[in-house]
Amino acid sequence: MIDRTVANVTCLGCGCACDDITIVVTQDRIAEARNACALGIAWFGDGTVPAETRVNGRTASLERALTEAARLLTGATRPLVYLAGDVSCETLREGVAIADRLHAAIDSLAATAATAVLAAQRRGRAGATLGEIRQRADLVVFWAVDPSARYPRYGSRYAVAPRGVAAPQGRKDRTLIAVDVGEALGPADADGRLAIAPADEVDSLEIMRATVQGRTVGEEARFRAAVELARRMTEARYVAIVTDGEPGTTSADPARAEALVTLSQALNAPTRCALSTLRGGGNRSGADAVLTWQTGFPFAVDFARGYPSYQPQAGAAALLGAGEVDAALVIGAPAALPVPVATALARVRSVVIGPRASAATFQPAVAVDAGVAGIHEGGTAFRMDDVPLPLRPSFEGARAALVTVRALRERLGP
Ligand code: SF4
Repeated sequence: MIDRTVANVTCLGCGCACDDITIVVTQDRIAEARNACALGIAWFGDGTVPAETRVNGRTASLERALTEAARLLTGATRPLVYLAGDVSCETLREGVAIADRLHAAIDSLAATAATAVLAAQRRGRAGATLGEIRQRADLVVFWAVDPSARYPRYGSRYAVAPRGVAAPQGRKDRTLIAVDVGEALGPADADGRLAIAPADEVDSLEIMRATVQGRTVGEEARFRAAVELARRMTEARYVAIVTDGEPGTTSADPARAEALVTLSQALNAPTRCALSTLRGGGNRSGADAVLTWQTGFPFAVDFARGYPSYQPQAGAAALLGAGEVDAALVIGAPAALPVPVATALARVRSVVIGPRASAATFQPAVAVDAGVAGIHEGGTAFRMDDVPLPLRPSFEGARAALVTVRALRERLGP
């Protein structure tokens, strides 16, 4: 028997942040997540999360946990605050305030996309919202990525199937090209495809840019298909180049990231082009946005000097790996931490406040379970294209992350 339904819920299972989900609640459990893909259904689960509070592995009161957390963090000489996933921007903002107060280093899941972020800082951007891509793009080039695995509804909601101004018949009016780079393949159902050897990828992008700019390039046989694609792009009305911003099968070479940006920028002379960078879920784009808004920098920020400084080569993984950090505060779900960060946290006294904190593999000194943003808590989250979306909770969790992190911040004093 259905207790109630909650419409227009935002899923944070991936960076698509689909906000058309209807949650069916039965006896305080999620019984159905309508419109969600398999990844989203798994992300919502049945909505139950642990509600434990532990100090040194033993059940404790929240009061004791916060006192111990404050003692541990204020006693540290080189504290680190890490913004993890599944918390709202409002909670992340409290985390930044804590880092400021502690003169701590602060980093986040956004650092997993550091290569693309740094490329944008060096070269600028040629981006668009997913809504603009949906309305305008008539040629979509999937560069070494098939979104169906990690971003399942990207095609159906934004870039492939939906009807738009430039594609009144949806998929029929769009041309999809898959660029396969080594084993990183584009979608199987593309209208055309070309294969590029990983060693030729950056050169191919540079030759494509030169072609778009009308410069004559020697047409070696191995670059001929790339040159042909570049010419085809200049004839489109609006090109979307889709690339994966998260680590995985594609190269993290900064030259590759910059070449994708500069090709997209060059295409804005003869036609229009947006680079659509796919990002993971859990509001990691929100961590990037909140840190930028509060400090001026998107990740790897250090308050050690009393003001924020940007240390992109000395993010959380590097600081932890070098043994510099003597206490850490993780805000968010520890399950999604990058492996080097989670592994190094096992060697440091830590506090974790967030969803499934008590299940952290690195055994924090203080663990406070809290609700999941978008399931138990409202607030704001950012989609992969930096569009903020409201979160609509389906039911209350045992403890709100925002209230708990704020209580810790107040305990740390002015
Ligand atoms: S595509 Fe991503 S955001 Fe949309 S329902 Fe699936 S997991 Fe959730």
